[in-house]
Amino acid sequence: MIKLRACRVCKRVTEEMKCPVCNGDTVLEWKGYLFILQPDKSSVAKKAGIKEAGEYAIKVR
Ligand SMILES: [Zn+2]
Repeated sequence: MIKLRACRVCKRVTEEMKCPVCNGDTVLEWKGYLFILQPDKSSVAKKAGIKEAGEYAIKVR
């Protein structure tokens, strides 16, 4: 099983040690899962400040 990580800066979920989007540090301690398809049409994405489609964590430590 692949251990997924989440970016501390933009909360994007990734397998990399560094975030592919903002190059921030990623951590293994995160909770919740958001899959955003259309950020401009999603109130959840707006609340979380997400502007790009993708997978995101809800809480990152
Ligand atoms: Zn990031």
